[in-house]
Amino acid sequence: MKTVIAGGGIAGLISALSLSLHQDQEVILIEKADHPGGLLKSFDYGEQGLFDHGAHNVCETGNTAIDKVIFDLLPKGGWDVLEKDKRDLAGIFYDGRLQLNTPYIDIRHKDQYKQYIADFFANIESTPSYNGPQNAYETIFQKFGESITQEVISPVVNKIYKKDIHDLDLLSILLTPLTRVNMFSSFLMEDLLHTKHLKNLLSFPEQRELPLQHSSGRRSLYPKNFGMQKVVDAIIKKLQENNVKILTNTGIKKITTQNQKISEVTIENAQGNIEQISLDYFVWSVGIPQLSFMLGLVNGKPDFDPPLKTIVTNLIVEKPIAMGDLYYLYCYDDGYHTFRVSNYANYCSTAKRSNGYPISIELLMEPTQVESPEKITEIAISELRKMQILQEDNRVNFGKTEILASGFPMPTLKNSLFINQKRKEIEKLDLQNLVLTGILSEPNLFFQTDIIRDTYEKMLDRIIQK
Ligand SMILES: Cc1cc2nc3c(=O)[nH]c(=O)nc-3n(C[C@H](O)[C@H](O)[C@H](O)COP(=O)(O)OP(=O)(O)OC[C@H]3O[C@@H](n4cnc5c(N)ncnc54)[C@H](O)[C@@H]3O)c2cc1C
Repeated sequence: MKTVIAGGGIAGLISALSLSLHQDQEVILIEKADHPGGLLKSFDYGEQGLFDHGAHNVCETGNTAIDKVIFDLLPKGGWDVLEKDKRDLAGIFYDGRLQLNTPYIDIRHKDQYKQYIADFFANIESTPSYNGPQNAYETIFQKFGESITQEVISPVVNKIYKKDIHDLDLLSILLTPLTRVNMFSSFLMEDLLHTKHLKNLLSFPEQRELPLQHSSGRRSLYPKNFGMQKVVDAIIKKLQENNVKILTNTGIKKITTQNQKISEVTIENAQGNIEQISLDYFVWSVGIPQLSFMLGLVNGKPDFDPPLKTIVTNLIVEKPIAMGDLYYLYCYDDGYHTFRVSNYANYCSTAKRSNGYPISIELLMEPTQVESPEKITEIAISELRKMQILQEDNRVNFGKTEILASGFPMPTLKNSLFINQKRKEIEKLDLQNLVLTGILSEPNLFFQTDIIRDTYEKMLDRIIQK
C-alpha cells in the first residue's frame, strides 16, 4: 500500500509513524517548509539555545498503543514526566491580577460576586433557546446566565479575538479555559464535584489540590534535554529507519481524482521541479480550506474572517520571572497583545541556560498592528513589566521575535460555518482513499493530544485494517 501524506506537523508525522510501523506500507511525507514539525519545531538560536513555539508538551492520549510508541521515541530517562499535581500548571492574568490557583476565571474577588451567583443559579435549569449552530454567546449564557456572560466572559473573548462574542463559534471558548468559572472554596467544591452538572460548570479553585480521582490521570511528557524539536527529530529518525520518504520544500500542486478515488497527486518543489505520484491512500493534514480549493469546491474568493497574526517573542531573562510555579499563563486583560506567557524552566529541568531563564510570549495582533520584530520585542517586554511578571531589576539578556506565517485560527461563526460546510462537501465527494487529519479535520478538533489520538485511530481503521 502506498500512502502520500500532505503536511509534516504532528498530524502528518503521527500518520507517517503509525503507517510505517507496518511492513507492507510505503509512505511518502510531503512538507512545504524546509523541515517537518509544524508548531512543534523549536527555533534554534545557536549559542542562545532552543525555544519552542510557546508551551507545548506531549500529553498522554489514553490510547495506550500510540502513547507507548511516543514514549519509546526517546531513550530511557529521556523524558521529564509531569504527573499528578504537576501535570499541567496554568494560570491567567485577569483584572490586573496574576491568578495562580487555576486557569479558569476566579470571580470571587469581583464586586458583583453575589449578583453573579444569583444569576448563575437562577439560570441553572435553562435550556438553549437557539437551535442553530452552537455559538459562544449561546453556550456561555446557557452555562452561566446573563451577568457572567456579559461582564466576565464576553470582554475576555473580545480581547483575545478582537470580535464580539455573538460572532464567535463555540471553539473560541474551548481554545483557552473558558467553559468553567471559579466560584467557591475548595471545601465546598470537594462536595460539589460529585454533582455532574455543577462539575462541568465550576472549576476546582486549587489546581494543585484537585482530588486525583477527578483528574484524567494522564501524564504529560517533555524532553529532558530541552526543546520539542527533540521529539520531532526522534520521529524523523524513526521514519527514516522505517524507509519513509520525506520530501521537504515541496507542496501539493494538483489532486487528480478517478472513480471516487484520488488516483495521483502532482507535487512541486522549491526549484520548480514537478512530479506526479500515484497512490493508494492520501492523508491530508493541512486544513479543510486548502483542500477544498484543491478539489475545486470554492468558487472565487471565499468570505472568510482572516486570522490574527500569531507572533512569538523569545527572551532570556537574568532571574526567574514572577509567575510562581506556572508553566504558562493566558493574558485576559484588555490593552495587552500578549496571549500567553510560557516559563520553560518550570517544566523542563534543562531549560535554564548560562545567561538566564528562557521564556516565550505569544502575541496576537491585527495584521495592521504588526510592526518590526525589534519593535514587537520591546512591546512584549513592556507588557511583561506592566503585568509585573518581569520586574524592573530583572534584565533581559536576549530577545528575538518570530512572526509566524500561519498561527492561531480565527474561530468566528462565519469561519466555522465555512469549514463545516466544506468538510461536508468533501465528505459528499465520497473519495474512498482520502483521510483527513489535523486541526479542525473534525468539528472542534484542535488540541494536540486529541489530534494524535484521532490521527492514530484513523490510520488504523481507514488504512491499515482496511
Ligand atoms: C499558535 C498555536 C498554539 C497552540 N498551542 C497549543 C497548545 O498549547 N496545546 C495544544 O494541545 N495545542 C495547541 N495548539 C493546537 C495545535 O493544533 C496542535 O498543537 C498541533 O500542533 C497541530 O498539528 P498539525 O499537524 O495539525 O498542524 P501544524 O503543526 O500547523 O502542521 C502543519 C504542517 O503542514 C505544512 N503545510 C502547510 N501547507 C502545506 C501544503 N500545502 N503542503 C505540504 N505541507 C504543508 C506546514 O508547513 C506544517 O509543517 C496550538 C495551535 C496554534 C496555531
